[in-house]
Amino acid sequence: MIELKNISKIYKNGKNHFQALKNINLVLDNKGLVIILGKSGSGKSTLLNILGGLDTHTNGEIIIDDKSTNEFKNDDYDNYRNNYVGFVFQEYNLINEMTINENIEIPLKLKNTKDRTTKIDDALTEVGLNSIGHKKCNELSGGQRQRVAIARALAKDPKIILADEPTGALDSVTSREIFELFKKISKQKLVVIVTHNEELAYTYGNRIIKISDGGIVSDITRIKNTPIRKIANNILEVESDYSLTKKDLKSIISDEKYIGVSTNLHNLTLAYDEILDYKKDDNEEFINTTIEVTSNNKFNSEESFLNTKDAYKLAKDNLKKNSKKYTFLKRIFTCFSMFLIVAFIISMLNIDSFVAKQTTNKNSLNIVEVSHEVAKIKTSEINELKNTLNNSKYSYVNNYELTPYYGNNVENSEFVSSSFSGIIEGNNISDLNLELVEGSSSLKNNYQIIISDYMAYNFVKYGVLVFNDNKLEILYPSDNKELVNKHIKIEETDKRYEIIGIYKTNFSNLLAKYNRGEDVSSFIDSNIKFLYSKLYARVGFYKQYKIDYKDYSFYEEGQVFVVKLANDASSKQFYFNDTRLDLNKNKIDSNVKYYNVEGTPSEIPTDLKDNEIILSIEHLYEMFSEDTKTVSELLNTTEIYTFLTNSNLKLDLLQNNSYSNTDEDDISIANDLSVKVVGVLDAGNRLFVSENINGILKNYLDGYDSVYFYNSDNSSALESKIIKLKENDESIMVGNNLIEVENTKSLSEIINGMSSVFTAFTIVFLVLSFIVCLNYMNILVRNRNKELTLYRTLGAKRKDICKIFVFESLNISFKSIIGGIVGAYIITRILNNVLSGITLMKISNVNILNFDLLYCLLTLICVFTICLLASYLSIRSLLKKKLVEAFKEG
Ligand code: ADP
Ligand code: MG
Repeated sequence: MIELKNISKIYKNGKNHFQALKNINLVLDNKGLVIILGKSGSGKSTLLNILGGLDTHTNGEIIIDDKSTNEFKNDDYDNYRNNYVGFVFQEYNLINEMTINENIEIPLKLKNTKDRTTKIDDALTEVGLNSIGHKKCNELSGGQRQRVAIARALAKDPKIILADEPTGALDSVTSREIFELFKKISKQKLVVIVTHNEELAYTYGNRIIKISDGGIVSDITRIKNTPIRKIANNILEVESDYSLTKKDLKSIISDEKYIGVSTNLHNLTLAYDEILDYKKDDNEEFINTTIEVTSNNKFNSEESFLNTKDAYKLAKDNLKKNSKKYTFLKRIFTCFSMFLIVAFIISMLNIDSFVAKQTTNKNSLNIVEVSHEVAKIKTSEINELKNTLNNSKYSYVNNYELTPYYGNNVENSEFVSSSFSGIIEGNNISDLNLELVEGSSSLKNNYQIIISDYMAYNFVKYGVLVFNDNKLEILYPSDNKELVNKHIKIEETDKRYEIIGIYKTNFSNLLAKYNRGEDVSSFIDSNIKFLYSKLYARVGFYKQYKIDYKDYSFYEEGQVFVVKLANDASSKQFYFNDTRLDLNKNKIDSNVKYYNVEGTPSEIPTDLKDNEIILSIEHLYEMFSEDTKTVSELLNTTEIYTFLTNSNLKLDLLQNNSYSNTDEDDISIANDLSVKVVGVLDAGNRLFVSENINGILKNYLDGYDSVYFYNSDNSSALESKIIKLKENDESIMVGNNLIEVENTKSLSEIINGMSSVFTAFTIVFLVLSFIVCLNYMNILVRNRNKELTLYRTLGAKRKDICKIFVFESLNISFKSIIGGIVGAYIITRILNNVLSGITLMKISNVNILNFDLLYCLLTLICVFTICLLASYLSIRSLLKKKLVEAFKEG
């Protein structure tokens, strides 16, 4: 039962106030056809809308099944609309693109009703439209449409059907049919129809409420087949000779809460709460009878919700319907997501992980190069590296170049390396996963070597100088096999080095590519030597080689060491290009004279103390820009004597890479060793130090530019190790076979640059697309106002509308991101190709930029968020509006 108490409605338009309803009091039964009759502008629709919860009243209260609207909470109006009211509009408000069934299904979906097909069928049968449910609504006549609208209102089984001028757009015959239908429905439920058609009203209405200027002017109930009329809320009019029975009364007042009855001649008053203490039998005449009819109805605040699956389907259907409108938005999102994915890919790229991936890639040699940005790696650091890489198999690779002798002049050949570029020292070739293609792998001494297939290729092609008995001759081997067990000569040593095996590199792949006519020039230019020409030898090989080397003063090309001697007042520096610093008297020519600092010729000391050093005459010349004096003359110069005997003398060893003596090129590799000059040798430019200092310096001068580690770990393990290394020392750089240390640095810079550009681009796009999206969504939502409002009158709550929009956003995001993914994939490939000019990934088949689905997912989330936010901001104002207003705007 619904009761309106003192309901008034005032429309406020700025300063203009208009009272559309004035103190309406009305009790509506649970059944019957109630007609609200009145002239246009009298307030009929206002009343109906308030009844249906589409609009709110200004004053008074509505009591619905014992619950007053004064007690209503936020959701209660929604629940009321959903559980109580089915609306029928003059202009039908069907979604024309949908079928009849789909239209009827909407409120059922919104109520999350089960067994919907049966309910739809029942509703269609009720309105006489069964078996045409599959038809689209725009194929129907007006009368049929209104029937569908009624079926839609009926389907969710509401307690009340409200219809505002339902026949306003129909001809009179059809109108009658519709009224017949309403009449039929009103046997089960309350039907309230607004009309200005008096004829129809009186023909069909059980109760006719006439309103004029916002007030009820008459309210007449016709009680079926009885001479009883309900003329006001609590007054019945009974014909004079009729005796009212309790049965009559029950049928009139149904479950209303009347507890007392009194009569006044022919008029009968039903009294509320009045104490009339009579009790009589059923058939007793009614007068002075007390009956108790209590309402057992409670306000149905049952919350219904739109089921997720249905929300998804509705969203999908809506988008399908509006798909053209969304095209532009989708394009924007496609571009945006493309940039975003690429920005993710680039900014997430870690060169170290690339190196790690390449290193563990099957095609690689699995050697990681760890290097310092500036100076040489110290022994302590090598140990640290060992510890960090403790689980990997590692080996030092000496970068020293050992030159074999080819048979021909090979200077200008594309593929040839004139030397072995470095020595891998290991105990077991299988530790390095190096695959042997010829010979054996067991190195028995320091004069046995295993060469690469690449060097073997060169030997086969150009010939190689080998020992035959004790004579050297050029061998032109017919194949690799012939090289095994041959003794070759390397540089100045007299020793023979026996090739006992040949290991496999990727050189054959490269050669195959080259032979197929592919461009491998960038690869050949920069890396072929570095990669494929390394010699594999037993641990200690290099040490032995240096001993065997004929020329004692043995220096590496391009490396000059500068010694800086300094006291507090001034510093002097000189150059020497000898990496061997120990005091090895055997190597000093017996003619060379030795002077102590006083300038007195003496015996060369047999043993130097830790801080004692011996200079050569060359150093003194260099330091003091003199070159004509003898050692004793030089030492007798006060200035020189004072300098050399100064107790604060410090020794600083610098490495100069370019033979240039400018300070910028010098890299300090040993600082501030306190030293004392004990004497000067009259020859050479060697510096002699004690064994101990020698030990310290040796670490710097032993020819390790970098440390190379063989690594057999998986790439993520290797990556974390590299990262750990870098944590300890930022200046460490890592490279591998395909990407050299210096390359990683320049590559990082390029990528950082690209990353900034793309990030900036993406941010601009992000802001732009958000603004565009917001504006566009606003327009779209406004266009769809009517549709959304309809959903709400059909029972959708704000939450449900939001839910539909979440799915719409998701749908749009998904659809637009697909293009973005494809675009980003293409861009990534292009960038990879560009970058392949800088690196050698084409050979290794490891892409520098990784197209990861994770980034696509992140992008999807981003696009979705923007879309959702924009649509939320757009629908927010719409959801705040009252439904009537929203409808009017739509
Ligand atoms: P009808 O009986 O024709 O359905 P309505 O209930 O629509 O009448 O309107 C009753 C009166 O209230 C009319 O005079 C109308 O102009 C006025 N009215 C209706 N809606 C508004 C509104 N939103 N703002 C101001 N006045 C309104
Ligand atoms: Mg109206």
